[in-house]
Amino acid sequence: MKLFMKAPAKINLALDVLNKRDDGYHEVKMVMTTIDLADRLELECTDHEKIRVSTSSGFLPEDHRNLAYRAAQLLQTRFEVNKGVTISIDKQIPVAAGLAGGSSDAAAVLRGLNRLWRLNLSMQELAEIGSEIGSDVAFCVYGGTAVATGRGEILSPISPPPPCWVVLAKPNVGVSTKDMYRQLQMGDIKHPDVDGLVEAIERRNYRKMCEKMENVFEPLVMKKVSQVALIKRKMNDLGADGVLMSGSGPTVFALTKSESRMRRLVNGLRGFCPNVYHVRSMGGKET
Ligand code: ATP
Repeated sequence: MKLFMKAPAKINLALDVLNKRDDGYHEVKMVMTTIDLADRLELECTDHEKIRVSTSSGFLPEDHRNLAYRAAQLLQTRFEVNKGVTISIDKQIPVAAGLAGGSSDAAAVLRGLNRLWRLNLSMQELAEIGSEIGSDVAFCVYGGTAVATGRGEILSPISPPPPCWVVLAKPNVGVSTKDMYRQLQMGDIKHPDVDGLVEAIERRNYRKMCEKMENVFEPLVMKKVSQVALIKRKMNDLGADGVLMSGSGPTVFALTKSESRMRRLVNGLRGFCPNVYHVRSMGGKET
């Protein structure tokens, strides 16, 4: 039996780090929303217990280091499943970009194998299992738009943001989330108004939403990756309504309501940034 799954990327409309916990994790408060840029996964159930992963990317690990593999292995051992799975991942989401591509692949495997292996787990159970794999996996299980607290696994769903175009530009460098957390100076942080952002989204106030978007990693990554600052400036010059780096970077996104401005942004950025994407919808739930 075969199943095809879509694994959408996420962007952070806000990202705040509140403190470092005794267990080594950071306490965060962020607003995440899925976008229509997605990996495609094909899952095929097998009668032997082997888990096989292949990806179109060419450089991603295909063994237990792949988060999709880890998701399958976790379900298989925890629920003593005597079946296996062959997973093929068509990577569309850039890797190590702040867009949670790996987490979303893991979440898609959890949702898919729940059906293929007939595990009958609830979304909440899948999200709990997911958070053992990575902090963003729980959000990716549900998709949509949510405020995430704790280490990112405590989720409160909110309304989707007002519809607009999202133009994404990823400089040709990867950024390690772990390194960025290590380098974050808690005393220097200017905390975003996450509650104000949520209120703007709930009131469908697009302008206010754009104004309130903020990410505590942005100043840090801008210092290290000069292209992030350049892309931000360029996006603002090209007339974006709101511009922000996603996650721990380095992808930067711009929001606009106007299709012609979206085209201007895409064309203007293509000149000096190798990876530029544009997507229409935000915050939609996966089925
Ligand atoms: P986040 O926004 O959650 O911090 P990210 O977009 O910065 O995530 P990912 O693309 O999810 O980062 O990948 C980060 C690391 O995870 C990479 O170093 C990669 O080798 C590893 N990884 C494991 N499995 C996958 C996968 N299926 N897709 C992408 N990366 C994966």
